Amino acid sequence: MLVLKFGGTSVGSAERIKNLAKLTHGNEPKIVVLSAMSGTTNALVNISQTLYEQNSTKASELIDALENKYKIEIQDLYQNPTILEKGKELINYHFHHIRSFVDFPLFTSKEEKIILAQGELLSTAMFHYYLSEIGEKSILLPALNFMRTNKDGEPDLAYIEENIKKELYKYPDSKLFITQGFICRNVNGDIDNLQRGGSDYTACILGAMIDAQEIQIWTDIDGMHNNDPRFVDKTYPISHLSFDEAAELAYFGAKILHPTCILPAQKRNVPVLLKNTMKPEAHGTVISNIEPPEGIRAVAAKDGIYAVTVKSERMLLAYGFLKTIFEIFEKYKTPIDMITTSEVAVSLTIDNPVYLERIVDELKEIAQVEVMKDQTIVAIVGNMSRSETGYGAKIMGAFKDIPLHMISYGGSEHNISVVIDSRYKKKALQAMNKNLFGY
Ligand code: ASP
Ligand code: MG
Repeated sequence: MLVLKFGGTSVGSAERIKNLAKLTHGNEPKIVVLSAMSGTTNALVNISQTLYEQNSTKASELIDALENKYKIEIQDLYQNPTILEKGKELINYHFHHIRSFVDFPLFTSKEEKIILAQGELLSTAMFHYYLSEIGEKSILLPALNFMRTNKDGEPDLAYIEENIKKELYKYPDSKLFITQGFICRNVNGDIDNLQRGGSDYTACILGAMIDAQEIQIWTDIDGMHNNDPRFVDKTYPISHLSFDEAAELAYFGAKILHPTCILPAQKRNVPVLLKNTMKPEAHGTVISNIEPPEGIRAVAAKDGIYAVTVKSERMLLAYGFLKTIFEIFEKYKTPIDMITTSEVAVSLTIDNPVYLERIVDELKEIAQVEVMKDQTIVAIVGNMSRSETGYGAKIMGAFKDIPLHMISYGGSEHNISVVIDSRYKKKALQAMNKNLFGY
C-alpha cells in the first residue's frame, strides 16, 4: 500500500483535480490524503475571525465569496449532470453548516475547528465524485473515524493504527482510498486538527501505522532544496536525505514538509518521497534510513527565534543549576531548541514566546537574564563525521562579516547551528551558497 498526500495547490482548481486523477491512477493500492483547495483554510480562518468578533455581515460576505469560488469550480469539474447535481448538494451542505455559526451565541475555538474542517471534507468529496465521473472506483474514508489526538494533543497512534486498519478491512477489494488530511478528533471526540500544514502529518502517520511501502508527499516544488530559493539565486533539489537530516531541515525552515512528520515514518522505517505535481517525472527527494554520503547536504534558516541568556555566578562549579533553568521552561511547556553554555552562563533559544515573560520573571529570581528578539537560526545539515576536518573552517568562513550570537555543534553529526540577528539572514545564506556549494 502507498500513501500519497497532495497539498492545496494540487487540488487548487478543477483543472488540477482532473490532473490529480492521472497521478493517482494505477493498480498499486493506495490511500490518497488531500488538503483543502489552496486558499480555503486561510479563508475559513478569516471567516472564524469575523465570527469571534461577532461581525455577522462581514462573515456572511466572506462565506458567500468562498462558496461562489466552489460553485464556479464544480461547473468546470463535472460534465455529468447527475454528478454536477451531487456536487452542488455537497457545496450547499457544507456552506449551510458554516453559515449555521453566523450569529452563534458563543463562538469558541471548538466551533472554529468545525469550520476549518470543512475545507478537507469538501476537497476529498469533490475528488471522489470526479473519480466516479471518469469511471474510477474509490472509497472515501472519513478521517474523523480514525484520526485522533490524546489528552496532550498528540496523535493517538495506537488508536489510529487500530481504526485505520478497521476501516481498510471493510473494503478488501478496493484499491483506491481517499481521506482528509489535517482533521481529526480530540480526546473528547470533538472535531479538531493537527495544526496548520497538518496534512503531511496525517499522511506520514497513516503511512507508518499501516506499514506502507512508501509515503509520497506531492507539492509544487521538486523536493527539498540545498538552500532557500527565496534568498539565493541558485539552488537544487537534494536527491536523497536520511531521516535525521530531513527532520533537521524540516524544522529549520524547509517549508516543504511539516517537521513533526518524519518521526512516525522513521520509527516504522517507511521511506518518504517528496514529489512535484507539476513535474511528476522529476526524481524529487527520497528520505530513508539509507545513510547518505559524508558531506554537507543543505542549509536552512528559521526566523522568529528568541535567544535567552541566563547568567549567574552561582553556576560556577555548581551542579543542578541547569536543571533549575530547564524546569522553568518545562513548567511553561516551552521547548528549548538550541543551547550553548559557558561556566557561568547559558544561552538557549525558543521559538514560542507565549510564556516568555513569565519564564523570564522566574529566571530573574535566580540569575541575570537577557533576551534577544528577531533572531534567526541558520542550520547547516548533512553527514558531518566528528573524525573529518574542514567543516568548521568552511562554515565559519561564510560568517566572517556577520556577528554571531550562538554556535552549536556536537549534539549530532547532522547539524551545525548558528544564531544571528535576522537582518543578516540573506547575507548568511548567500555566503554559504558560495562557500559550501560553490555558487
Ligand atoms: N489545509 C490545512 C492548512 O492549510 C492543512 C494542510 O494543507 O496541510 O493548513
Ligand atoms: Mg502544506
